[in-house]
Amino acid sequence: MDKFDVIVVGAGPAGSAAALVCARAGLSTVLLERGEFPGAKNIFGGVLYTTVLSELIPGFLENAPLERPIGSRRFSILSEKGELAVGFRDVRFGKTPFNNSFTVLRAKFDRWFAGKAEEAGAMVIPQTMVEELWFENGKVAGVKTGREGGDLRADLVICAEGANAFLLRKSQLREKFSPRSMAVAVKELLALPQGVINDRFQLEENEGAAYEYFGGAVNGLVGSAFIYTNRETISVGLGCTIESLIDHKISANTLLDQFKNHPAIRPLIKGAEPQEFSAHLIPEGGYRQIPKMAAEGLMVVGDAAHLVNSSLYHEGTNLAMASGKLAGETAVEAKRAGNFSEAFLKRYLDRLNDSFVMKDLKRYAGIGDWAHANPGFFRDYPELALELMKDFFTISMASKGDIQKAVWKKLRRRVSLFRMAKDLFQFKKVMFPS
Ligand code: FAD
Repeated sequence: MDKFDVIVVGAGPAGSAAALVCARAGLSTVLLERGEFPGAKNIFGGVLYTTVLSELIPGFLENAPLERPIGSRRFSILSEKGELAVGFRDVRFGKTPFNNSFTVLRAKFDRWFAGKAEEAGAMVIPQTMVEELWFENGKVAGVKTGREGGDLRADLVICAEGANAFLLRKSQLREKFSPRSMAVAVKELLALPQGVINDRFQLEENEGAAYEYFGGAVNGLVGSAFIYTNRETISVGLGCTIESLIDHKISANTLLDQFKNHPAIRPLIKGAEPQEFSAHLIPEGGYRQIPKMAAEGLMVVGDAAHLVNSSLYHEGTNLAMASGKLAGETAVEAKRAGNFSEAFLKRYLDRLNDSFVMKDLKRYAGIGDWAHANPGFFRDYPELALELMKDFFTISMASKGDIQKAVWKKLRRRVSLFRMAKDLFQFKKVMFPS
C-alpha cells in the first residue's frame, strides 16, 4: 500500500496551499479532491483575498485566472422600496499593484492553484472521495477513499474538506453544527457584456466592484446579499444563518428571487443571462466555534476549522490559504523531527494564533451571537432609516424646518434615544472593538 509523508484532503484554497508548501519542501504529498477537477464543485461570492497567495506565489498576477481587481465597495441597506448606501472607490485599488482583492471564478482559480501544487511536486488526484480518516492506535494514519485499492497511508493528514466537515464529524473530531453557526448561501452567475457591467457599476476598463446589501435585502434576517462584478458576468447571491431561515420559515432561494426583484437591484441585472446556480454552506460561527485543529497525525485547515471572518469583510479565502500555509510549514517541521504527535502539531495553532487569522477571528468573536440577539438591527433600524430618509427628501409645501422637526419627532416616537444609544454602543463593540 502507498505511503506518503502528507495526504491533503480537498483541493480548495486551504488544501492547495498546504500541498504546495509540503511539496516545495520535498515531502511526498498527495492532494485528493472529490470533484472532477479541483474547483469543479467549489463556489463562493466572491472576492479572493491574495495577501497569502502573493507570499506563496509572488508572480501570481501574471498568470492566475483573475477576473477583476476590486476598486470600489458599496454597503447598502434596503427597505421594501428604497436603498440607503455608502460607497467607497479609490482608482488606485483598481490599478497595479491593486489591493489584494480580486473577483475570481473558483472553477478556474482552484484548478490553477492546485496546478501550482502539482508543479511543485504534489500528486493531485481528482475524482477521489475520501470516505473516512484511517486510525491506527488512536493516531490518524491515512485515509480510506471510494476507489478500489485506494486506501492511502501517511505520516500526516491535513484535512481541508471545507464547511461540511463530514470526515471530522464522522471521526467525532468535531461536534454537530448549531444552526446559528452555519449559513446557507445561494448564488447565481449572470452574463452581461463587459461594457454594460462597466456602465451599470460605474467602472473603468477592468476595474471591479463589490456591493453588499443588508436589512430588507434578506427580509431582515441575519445575513446579507451581494453583487460582485467579474469580466463578463456578475455574481449575485446571499447567505443567511440556518437559525434565521428556520425562524422566519423562508428559503434562501425565495430570498434570492425577492432580492433580484428589488427596485434597487433589478436595473443592475436587467437582461443578464443566467449561467449557473449554486448553493453552499458558510461556517459563520467564528472564533467560538473553532474545533480541535490538531490531533495525533492530523491538522485541520480552512472552512473545515470554521476559519471565516464574517464581519463586514466577509473573508474566508485568505484565512483558508493562511491556515493551509501554516499547517504545511508545521508538517515540514514535523517530518524533519520525525514527530507527528498532537503535542508537536500544536505548533500549527501557535502559528495561527500569531497570525492575522486568529487575531481577526478573536476580534469579531461576538458578532454571531450579537446579531441573533438583536434582530432589530437587521429589520427595524433599516426600515426606519429608509423611512426617515424618504420623509427628509420629500418635497412639499412644508418648510424645511418643519420637515426636519417632523423627522426628528418620528424618530423619537419610534425608538427611545436611550435604546438607540445602547444599541449603537453594542454595535460598535462587536463591529469595531477597541
Ligand atoms: P473549500 O473551498 O470548500 O474546499 C474544500 C475542497 O474539499 C473542495 O474542493 C471539495 O470538493 C473537497 N472535498 C470535500 N470533501 C472531500 C472529500 N471527502 N474527499 C475529497 N475532497 C473533498 N470568501 C472570501 O474570501 N470572499 C468572498 O467573497 C466569499 N464569498 C463567499 C460566498 C459564498 C456563497 C460562499 C459559500 C463562501 C464564500 N466565501 C468567501 C468563503 C470561502 O469560499 C471559503 O472560506 C473558502 O473557500 C474556504 O476554503 P477551503 O479550502 O477551506 O474549503
